[in-house]
Amino acid sequence: MVGMDDRLDVVLGGRTPKLLAEHLDLHTVADLLRHYPRKHVDQGQLTPIAGLVPGEHVTVLAEVSSCKSRRMEQRKGTIQQAVIWDGRRTLKCTFFNQPWLPDKELLPGRRALFAGKVTRYGKTLQLAHPSFLPLDEDADDVDEFRRPIIPVYPATKGIDSWTIQRSVRQVFDVLDDPDDPLPESLRMEYRLPGLAEALRAVHRSDDRAVIAAARHRLMWDEALAVQLTLARRRHDAAQRPAPACPRCDDGLAAAFDARLPFELTTGQLQVGEQLAAELSGEHPMNRLLQGEVGSGKTVVALRAMLQVLDSGRQAALLAPTEVLAAQHARSLREMLGDLGRAGELGAAEQATRITLLTGSLGARARKDALLEAASGAAGIVIGTHALIQDRVSFAELGLVVVDEQHRFGVEQRDALRSRAGDGSSPHVLVMTATPIPRTVAMTVFGDLEVSSLRELPRGRSPIATSVVPSGEKPSWLDRAWLRISEEVAAGRQAFVVCPRIGEQAAGEDVDDPGSDPGDDDDERRPPLAVLDVAPQLADGPLHGLRVGVLHGRLGVDEKDTVMRRFTGAELDVLVATTVVEVGVDVPNATVMLILDADRFGVSQLHQLRGRVGRAGQHPGLCLLVTESPDGTVARERLDAVAATTDGFELAQLDLELRREGDVLGATQSGRRSGLKLLSLLRDGDLIAQARSEAQRLVSVDPALRGYPGLARLADDLLDEDRAGFLEKV
Ligand code: ADP
Ligand code: MG
Repeated sequence: MVGMDDRLDVVLGGRTPKLLAEHLDLHTVADLLRHYPRKHVDQGQLTPIAGLVPGEHVTVLAEVSSCKSRRMEQRKGTIQQAVIWDGRRTLKCTFFNQPWLPDKELLPGRRALFAGKVTRYGKTLQLAHPSFLPLDEDADDVDEFRRPIIPVYPATKGIDSWTIQRSVRQVFDVLDDPDDPLPESLRMEYRLPGLAEALRAVHRSDDRAVIAAARHRLMWDEALAVQLTLARRRHDAAQRPAPACPRCDDGLAAAFDARLPFELTTGQLQVGEQLAAELSGEHPMNRLLQGEVGSGKTVVALRAMLQVLDSGRQAALLAPTEVLAAQHARSLREMLGDLGRAGELGAAEQATRITLLTGSLGARARKDALLEAASGAAGIVIGTHALIQDRVSFAELGLVVVDEQHRFGVEQRDALRSRAGDGSSPHVLVMTATPIPRTVAMTVFGDLEVSSLRELPRGRSPIATSVVPSGEKPSWLDRAWLRISEEVAAGRQAFVVCPRIGEQAAGEDVDDPGSDPGDDDDERRPPLAVLDVAPQLADGPLHGLRVGVLHGRLGVDEKDTVMRRFTGAELDVLVATTVVEVGVDVPNATVMLILDADRFGVSQLHQLRGRVGRAGQHPGLCLLVTESPDGTVARERLDAVAATTDGFELAQLDLELRREGDVLGATQSGRRSGLKLLSLLRDGDLIAQARSEAQRLVSVDPALRGYPGLARLADDLLDEDRAGFLEKV
């Protein structure tokens, strides 16, 4: 008998173990048994050919309608062409030098499994030299493939689904049933079959209901593994000592509140209370604050920082770009007024100091800034993630605020927690303007507690968004440029956003690796580039206006100068890449025109348009320019963005449109990954249940000593998926 940890080459003969290892990275019995069928096909039902997607490796059950062999004209040898069908449509299969096929194997009417890569040839689909398994032949194990339901495995060119199926059967013949990692009580409560039973069923059952129950149980394994890992992280983080920073009545925080020029929204007050309470505690706060663009997260963060300063600790504010870091420094200084000018003339008595640390500081200035952080002279240190994380030491770091960072992984957040000087962990507040769907919040951000700001401060007018189909209606684009000129004439400003910087090969010069303008294999023209568009506009439709450019390849000083000129209204139009996506705040900008809008993600577009109409008195306008024709998916996405300003709705849509692998790590057919069945789209409820079970288990038994099987489940997942689910979205 063999167990789950035994190597496949001990169990299976021949070359198969080598092929499984090479092509699918499956080495042990457990690896193979956790390589679940992708689907199950009914013996009696042919695979619909209409649903096949070019480029995919597929396994289809089809009937041979004809097969012919002929000599090749240009080369030596023969070619065999078979036509297979599903009862409605046909698919061509091409083979080389197998002249016996028409008479011996691919006889008309015969049914077989065919496996290969789908290619498109003109308008027809075909399989190039597929492998096949005739189902009505007298093979030894023909019964294996005559069963009413045939499992179809994620397979590759090197190994067929049916070879995997045979291997699985052989393994089950000698398998010693594995212990079940799930506690019995949990299995009872959720009515889950045992592990051995579930594994057998998912691979070998002929009953769809039994298979579904088995899959559900195996999804539990995955969900629980993820949630246990996160629950342990939360538990560990919460155990660490943190600087307790209680509220005080006569400090900076109180002084700041007393002079706030506006009333805080209910949401800001509620979240503020939550943060204040957690900062007072002896264990670190780990919180995610999500709120629409313009919902006023910065003030909330600043109030938290001030509370920490009142306890004699420092706060760090991490921004994703230098532009944003500089802008934060400006706006915090402005908000604080004389409360932020310690060491300068006219500072208030309890004033603090804000220090900006950027890569572009001269050696001298940089040394000063580092010294201010290390000595504690700086109360608030602002910089980019990279800079502050790597180089800066603090005297008494109490709070780290990470702004606008939806591409920041769990492990990076972990790294931050070790930054307080005295062995304690600072409090952490992560802010994002990209609303996060529930399932993503529970996984990628699962180590954080979540707060949301759902209302906008009063007086902010919502932004109007229109799609400009420049392909079908070129005149609309002319009108769009005219509209920008009018806004400028009325004293306001505009952004024009392009997917690319320019002057380098497309694909290499995007500012944001998250946007993927080069997406598929496509033959579309390269995306429009800032460096091409800006001069064209200045000479053409925006002639006479003051046009500036902003992108990631500019030096920091240049960027800063451009931003300053735009903010100071010395520029009318800013042609930019997505560097303007995050947080850039120019209240006088009222129009944003996004070129090649179809090249951006849904959430990204939402984020971008949040940059305009920030002043409130003038309504904002966002124009999404695209050549994508009506009726395409690309257009649908843009129409959705135009139709709603509800970020949560758009985030969900974004999740649905993205391949899930992008969120939970790569889970392509062949590649091994700890998460095979679990879906962020469909399995929200299961993930939530697993989360609360994991929380309960870890709170009573953090090391999972009483549940070695569970501990192992979580550890295995973590090993395999280190760069997977815990990574950035
Ligand atoms: P975001 O959540 O996008 O970071 P900000 O914090 O930058 O939003 O706030 C956007 C603007 O709204 C800022 O100019 C800020 O001063 C202002 N603001 C924040 N809270 C309020 C409020 N309660 N009432 C009025 N204006 C506010
Ligand atoms: Mg902000």
